[in-house]
Amino acid sequence: MTAHYPPPEAQISYVSGRLDDLLRLTSDVFFETDAKLLISAASYRTLDVFGVPDVLVLGQPLEAIGRFAEGLPDWRAPFRDMVFHVRVDDIERILLISALPYYDESGSFAGVRGAAQDVTDRRVWERQATMLTSACEQSPAAIAIATAEGKIQWANSRWHIDDADGVIAKNLIDARPTSPPDGVDLVEAMTALKPWRGEIRRQVDDHEVIELVSVSPICIHGQKSPVFSVTREDITLRRAYEEKLMRLAHFDDLTGLPTRMLCLDRLARGLMAVERQERIMATLVVSVSGIRRINDVHGRSVGDAVLVQLARRLQSVVRAGDTVARLSGCEFAVVADLRDGSEADSLADKLQAAMNRKFSLSGLDHQLKASIGIALYPGDGNNAEALLQSAALAVNGAASSLKRVNFFRPEINEALQSRLQLETALRNALPLGELAMHYQPIVGVDGHVSAAEALMRWCPRDGVAVPPSVFIPLAEETGIIVQLGLWGLYVACAEATRWRNQNRDIRIAVNVSALQFRTPSFVDDVLNALKAAGLSPEALDLEITESLLVDGQDDVIAVMRRLRDLGISLSIDDFGTGYSSLSYLRRFPFTTLKIDRSFVTDIASNGPIIRAILTMSRSLGLTVIAEGVEEKDQAEFLVAEGCHYMQGWLFGRDESSDQFLRTLKNSPLRQVSQA
Ligand code: C2E
Ligand code: CA
Ligand code: CA
Repeated sequence: MTAHYPPPEAQISYVSGRLDDLLRLTSDVFFETDAKLLISAASYRTLDVFGVPDVLVLGQPLEAIGRFAEGLPDWRAPFRDMVFHVRVDDIERILLISALPYYDESGSFAGVRGAAQDVTDRRVWERQATMLTSACEQSPAAIAIATAEGKIQWANSRWHIDDADGVIAKNLIDARPTSPPDGVDLVEAMTALKPWRGEIRRQVDDHEVIELVSVSPICIHGQKSPVFSVTREDITLRRAYEEKLMRLAHFDDLTGLPTRMLCLDRLARGLMAVERQERIMATLVVSVSGIRRINDVHGRSVGDAVLVQLARRLQSVVRAGDTVARLSGCEFAVVADLRDGSEADSLADKLQAAMNRKFSLSGLDHQLKASIGIALYPGDGNNAEALLQSAALAVNGAASSLKRVNFFRPEINEALQSRLQLETALRNALPLGELAMHYQPIVGVDGHVSAAEALMRWCPRDGVAVPPSVFIPLAEETGIIVQLGLWGLYVACAEATRWRNQNRDIRIAVNVSALQFRTPSFVDDVLNALKAAGLSPEALDLEITESLLVDGQDDVIAVMRRLRDLGISLSIDDFGTGYSSLSYLRRFPFTTLKIDRSFVTDIASNGPIIRAILTMSRSLGLTVIAEGVEEKDQAEFLVAEGCHYMQGWLFGRDESSDQFLRTLKNSPLRQVSQA
């Protein structure tokens, strides 16, 4: 036997001391069971690992502490890393259990010795790492973790460019970033442990690839030589789209001219420049009419070709530094840096001359008309936007001037502003109950009130009444008249019924605007108004002005016929002020003619005309009403000449329906001769 030093007893205590220290230091739990698999011994960390102190563990089977994920193991055979779940402080933890059976001297199974290792944290990290990796894999960018030397430690599968040696620096640095942020070099940034983001252009085969690269250092636990996360995103396509959008926003597709956006930009730059010199900046808006007709007659492509030509013509007139832009369909702008206003005037003349030259299309000559509005800086606007707007406002007034050129005046703006305000107020007039219908008597030669003309009145709540000569044209231009006219028709018909119910057999005349007359539902509207009022069509007279008759004749005649067939009378209003063509009277099925007030006012000199109108009307079987009769001798002349009816202040002004009825009751029949 070999002599032992230290002696066997000391050696045993040494080994057991060493074992005990080991068990104290390790974070795993070692346990031993008896043959019945009840825990007979456990090392120090049971509270941490099993969640119960060792005294409670002893005498228990392992299954009393937690559960095996895949069922009970075969204890009689050794096993490793079986997943075992326990709850510690209400948190499910994952242990890995390994065990070996042991035997007594007789060779019978005496129990197992096992170890339990808590791997919960590791599992959480593993899970997170898997998630992160898969997220990185899904990313459209190529992502890598690289050392400061550029050696790749990890990369997602998009990172497949030609880095055979696994070194990114070569790829990135050799590619020479085209847009280093703040001029900082990629290598410099990496050396200084600073993040870097920039664009890199590389030649791949025969095309250029643009990549957005970002490199940022990841310092782990204050590690001195960090690793870098590198992402590379292919933005070639995006950049191409961006450039295309930029082009679209800045240049007109058809003519290649700058758009409004670029025009404003250049104008703004120009303003800064002229401020330093003693010059002015002129903004001219050129509006061309007649293109739509060319589109309609010759087709869109011909219209487009004309627009391209116009653009070239404008460009040929201006100097190199000036801008010609296309603002919208048929509207161009010219921005020029000039000496004074008179130069702007002569530039406008040159532009006009260029635009007025004939175009030959499909063997036909075409001439377009251009109107030019001019705004000058300084004076007509403080910034590019305002100047362009001023020039656009000025162009509206250009068509009516001889040269079709109009310089901006501040009044234009003011007029437009107040018109806009009035329009808004008018739109609200009906819902606010600011509108009313008044009635003016129409009398026969015997002074008997046979009818009344309904006239619309607008009295805004907060101000003085707005005369119809102001709000009716506005309502017509804005289309509001359709709604207002319909309302007036309903009200007038209802009032007429009321009068009739009081035994006043008075017909009602309602003014109809051309726009309203042309709405497809007009005949139905009239029928509905009559029905709602319970008024017979024979009691209604619609007054129409000549403007309706100018175009769309066939449709207009058809509608007039339908109204006539229903029994409704139709008057031509203000006769003598418009085209007053006799042919109208023959062609359109009118029942009545209203001689305009202007003839009656100056009856002395208009006698022959009135006589002619009356003769002609008689021959056409038309009833005649003279308007604006203010004086007795006017009335006498008209009666003597055979006029059937009269209307005017001599017989009564317009009044509310109630007042109208009262006046009727109080006044005896007014013979014209007594009036
Ligand atoms: P209008 O249809 O020619 O209406 C007759 C205009 O002459 C009315 O002006 C009336 O007040 C005025 N008047 C009548 N007798 C005399 C007179 O003896 N002397 C003078 N100086 N004037 C007289 P008002 O009410 O200012 O209406 C102006 C125009 O507005 C109307 O001319 C008509 O075209 C339009 N209007 C009025 N109400 C309506 C309506 O409900 N619908 C439509 N579409 N237009 C309307
Ligand atoms: Ca009228
Ligand atoms: Ca009239």
